[in-house]
Amino acid sequence: MNIYDAVVIGGGPAGMTAALYLLRAGVKTLSIEKMAPGGQVLMTEEIENYPGFPSGLKGYELADKFAAHLEEYPHDKIMDEVKEIKIGNPVHEIHVADQAVGAKAIIFATGARYRNLGIPGEQRLVGKGVSYCALCDGNFFRDRTVAVVGGGNSALEEALYLARLVKKLYLIHRREEFRGAVCYQNKCFTHEKIEVLRSTVVDEIVGVEEVETLALTNVKTGEKSSLDVDGAFIFVGFEPVMHFVPGEVEKTVHGIVTDIEMCTNVPGIFAAGDIRAKMCRQVATAVGDGATAATSAFSYLEQLGN
Ligand SMILES: Cc1cc2nc3c(=O)[nH]c(=O)nc-3n(C[C@H](O)[C@H](O)[C@H](O)COP(=O)(O)OP(=O)(O)OC[C@H]3O[C@@H](n4cnc5c(N)ncnc54)[C@H](O)[C@@H]3O)c2cc1C
Repeated sequence: MNIYDAVVIGGGPAGMTAALYLLRAGVKTLSIEKMAPGGQVLMTEEIENYPGFPSGLKGYELADKFAAHLEEYPHDKIMDEVKEIKIGNPVHEIHVADQAVGAKAIIFATGARYRNLGIPGEQRLVGKGVSYCALCDGNFFRDRTVAVVGGGNSALEEALYLARLVKKLYLIHRREEFRGAVCYQNKCFTHEKIEVLRSTVVDEIVGVEEVETLALTNVKTGEKSSLDVDGAFIFVGFEPVMHFVPGEVEKTVHGIVTDIEMCTNVPGIFAAGDIRAKMCRQVATAVGDGATAATSAFSYLEQLGN
């Protein structure tokens, strides 16, 4: 079995930054990515809030820039999915396809997935009015009309964020009662720009080049209607990608628990980016986490006597 000082799992912004920092520090590093480098950035039409690019840039362009920067530091890579990890002392075992590698330090950076509604029009209109991130895309909808779909804390928080920017916001929830915190509910229900549509499901997102209307059904009365909007923000759940992270590593439904240095409860195991239980999931924060995790991993390896 090949043993590395550090293995970075996930090649999104967090993982690529962590690998870059480790390699620049001279650490023998392996990076593992199951698809193409870039992560969720590859799914992003336009990124306008990553510092240094005042005119914004396409998601794939930013992913290419991260990957090109990392390529300046040749290192071992595996392009496959990590299936299982066995915690060891001091070497952990990582199983990828039909091989296993050893790592003294592991950085988990496998990101997260936003749940979608799975309705017609949704996938086709992502980046054309359909969004899963108010911080990312809210600015495109200044003084326009949007819908927020969902009834949990994130839907309510994102609705309040968006309400500062937009002209009108419909908050659509499939149930009568909202699950989100009462303080957020009260703010939303009394907000002058927010109209709440309860017991209502979105059947289809309609539009040719961009979102135009939402086809709705009131689940209590069965009444069908159509709502004109410029954007649909969907917040119906969020899943950190951590099914393969071993039970010894502390996690909640919101992600892996770390301290501010990106250390988990298990020595030699670090986490960075959207996989962490944290509030702000953005490229800028993923990059910061990656740099911090790598620096912590470096200190850990030094203590091990590397
Ligand atoms: C549609 C959309 C638009 C967005 N717009 C913006 C924006 O405008 N500005 C902004 O700052 N942020 C935006 N974000 C959020 C931003 O993209 C994420 O916060 C950021 O990409 C998180 O980086 P990460 O490295 O933690 O995870 P990810 O980007 O999710 O990368 C994780 C990587 O791990 C890999 N992986 C997963 N499981 C395994 C496994 N078992 N084995 C090996 N590899 C694995 C995945 O293939 C992926 O490449 C957007 C997100 C989405 C979905």
